Amino acid sequence: MSPQNPKARRVRVPMPEQRPEQRRRNFEEVNLGYTEQQAREEAARCLQCGKPACITGCPIGVKIPEFLARIVQGDFLGAAAKIREDNPLPAVTGRVCPQEQQCEKRCVLGRRFEPVGIGHLERFVADYEIQHRKVGEVRSLPLDAEKRVAIVGSGPAGLAAAGDLIRAGCAVTVFEALHEPGGVLMYGIPEFRLPKWIVRFEIENLRRLGVRFEVDTVIGRTLSIDDLLTEEGYDAVFIATGAGLPKFLGIEGEHLLGVYSANEFLTRVNLMHAYRFPEYDTPIYDCQDKDVVVIGGGNTAMDAVRTALRLGARRAMILYRRSEAEMPARVEEIRHAKEEGVEFITLTAPLAFLGDEEGWLRAIRCQRMELGEPDESGRRRPIPIPGSEFELPAQVAIVAVGAGANPLVQSTTPHLKTNAKGYIEVDPETMQTSRPRVFAGGDIVTGAATVIQAMAAGRKAAAAILRSLEISECRSTR
Ligand code: FAD
Ligand code: SF4
Ligand code: SF4
Repeated sequence: MSPQNPKARRVRVPMPEQRPEQRRRNFEEVNLGYTEQQAREEAARCLQCGKPACITGCPIGVKIPEFLARIVQGDFLGAAAKIREDNPLPAVTGRVCPQEQQCEKRCVLGRRFEPVGIGHLERFVADYEIQHRKVGEVRSLPLDAEKRVAIVGSGPAGLAAAGDLIRAGCAVTVFEALHEPGGVLMYGIPEFRLPKWIVRFEIENLRRLGVRFEVDTVIGRTLSIDDLLTEEGYDAVFIATGAGLPKFLGIEGEHLLGVYSANEFLTRVNLMHAYRFPEYDTPIYDCQDKDVVVIGGGNTAMDAVRTALRLGARRAMILYRRSEAEMPARVEEIRHAKEEGVEFITLTAPLAFLGDEEGWLRAIRCQRMELGEPDESGRRRPIPIPGSEFELPAQVAIVAVGAGANPLVQSTTPHLKTNAKGYIEVDPETMQTSRPRVFAGGDIVTGAATVIQAMAAGRKAAAAILRSLEISECRSTR
């Protein structure tokens, strides 16, 4: 299976995709996935390095060459099992990890040619496993009811911790404020990048292992952290509440009708199926035939603008105050957005939202920028160009300039230490907070990061909780 022709090593097997003109108006997944043949060809590009640099780029140390070798042999279930030794959600990470910054960035092949498509291959084996796993393979585990752990928040950090803790025999309950578990995987990342059946499938697996999910339960309101530790009798609590508090620009007119936070916009569309109104009862934001401007340059901004396009926007635009080189969004998302017809207005900042007599947005006053010296983020600072103001017509504006810590748990838990930005402080080795038996991890500790980093934190916290409960043995590998 090794490529005989040296040229075959150079270029990656392309990922089959929906055509841009077709996909820009539907919510189906953009990437269609490799066939078995394509996967084996791509995996065969791997040099099987003695010291695989790719592994050092993966935050959870997936044994990349070992799983790739199994793909080459056609042992796809074996490849999936190898990935799952380290990564509990490969169908998710294979789709959303910023691989070009992580495993693939370190691949030695990438020094001269295109790096091995590790993410595409991870996705392939994960999907293969989902389709071919025998019914009943995931089963309920015997629980040690003496050790009970509560997890607050069901995003990737909470789910990864729940998986490790249940396999070690603890009784695990996940408390989730929303009506469906999954965190950003469910309410933030759109269907066309991460189909929701995949997240539901993994959550169902955890349920079958014995994890209990208590949805519609806001910790800090329904129950406090102290209630969980005392009245509810949990031995330990893991806080994984994420960074879902939207930031705003603080400029004139932000209250106007038609100006939204990306969080609210995406949640309505993803979690409440607004795009299928009236079949579902959440009304859709009316993007149909409108000029929609999304302010920001990260993954959230790309998700929002591509969603607006699919909801029928006449023009879907990204407004970003730096240049494209500084955009934090994944390279693939920027490429997909451009192919679908999203307009990129870079080096431009919004100054004010302008409304009509009835209070609806009609335009955004903007200013051109140029780049100066790097700021504290390491990116070149945008500097306004005097006299460059102009009006950009827009009936919908979506603000996607970042998010902060969800504050409720911190404000209702006495003596829980936070930093100046409101994120929970932990010992980086043990993930222990300032409160005994209370651990924290994921975006609520680091600020907005990535799915894989949140999962890594969840696994680290689970290991620390097990040590604190003096449990060492993992009873199951699935
Ligand atoms: P979250 O996923 O935020 O989950 C926290 C959960 O806790 C939520 O379900 C919330 O409802 C719940 N919660 C909060 N407060 C309470 C409470 N008081 N009681 C009970 N439950 C509570 N990362 C990538 O790697 N790749 C991407 O492509 C990518 N795209 C993104 C796109 C969008 C639109 C967004 C918003 C983020 C994206 N990210 C991406 C970032 C990534 O999703 C996050 O870093 C990751 O989800 C953080 O995981 P978490 O478990 O810490 O928190
Ligand atoms: Fe790469 Fe992410 Fe998979 Fe690690 S988990 S190997 S970083 S795609
Ligand atoms: Fe294969 Fe690249 Fe990893 Fe080497 S660095 S083992 S070529 S994936």
